[in-house]
Amino acid sequence: MRHRVAIVGAGPVGVTAALELARHGIASVVLDDKATVNDGSRAICLSRHSLEILQQLGVEAPFVAKGLGWTRGRTYFRDREIFRFEMPHSEQERFLPMINLQQQYIEKFLIDKAAESEPVELRWQSAVTGVSQDASGVSLEVSTPRATIASPATTCWPPTAPAAWRARHWASPCTARPTRAAT
Ligand SMILES: Cc1cc2nc3c(=O)[nH]c(=O)nc-3n(C[C@H](O)[C@H](O)[C@H](O)COP(=O)(O)OP(=O)(O)OC[C@H]3O[C@@H](n4cnc5c(N)ncnc54)[C@H](O)[C@@H]3O)c2cc1C
Repeated sequence: MRHRVAIVGAGPVGVTAALELARHGIASVVLDDKATVNDGSRAICLSRHSLEILQQLGVEAPFVAKGLGWTRGRTYFRDREIFRFEMPHSEQERFLPMINLQQQYIEKFLIDKAAESEPVELRWQSAVTGVSQDASGVSLEVSTPRATIASPATTCWPPTAPAAWRARHWASPCTARPTRAAT
């Protein structure tokens, strides 16, 4: 199977990248080794700028509806307040400077949007276990519960690969040219 863009990891970065590419008419396949959203302790605070990016993708509404907005923070040591801050905000702003929303919801809302988006193909339980590159493109080896598939001449999109994956494949030709996607 040949794809113009393959994104490794359906975390917030991978799915946002796929939606952004779709906005520009570029189809992609997103591969994730899990079968669901992350279940561990992850992000909780989402900044205004992130919401502005999500707005460009047309996905901001559930974030605003579900998230808890805030403008000021206080830090306590036992019963003593040791730090207080106020983030700039005005009525001119569309979004509050920060909202609190568990990453599980962040991922769910992005995945829901991607599932509606035809140019984005999400593939779960698909662990990328190998990457190679030649003149015809980049090939990914993908391990699924059914089989290990060597997918020839697949485009790789390294900037969106998650940190753990990048660390494992840092020496590969694919990651050596992170700004160029071969087709
Ligand atoms: C405790 C904690 C608190 C945090 N708090 C905040 C916060 O308040 N605000 C904030 O903005 N950020 C916060 N972060 C950081 C935030 O969680 C990360 O920046 C974010 O998850 C990065 O998204 P990502 O899509 O790059 O990677 P990830 O979320 O790690 O997603 C990568 C995905 O790729 C999959 N994957 C990995 N290797 C492969 C492979 N070989 N093949 C297929 N799939 C693969 C993984 O299963 C995963 O689903 C926090 C992180 C932690 C741990």
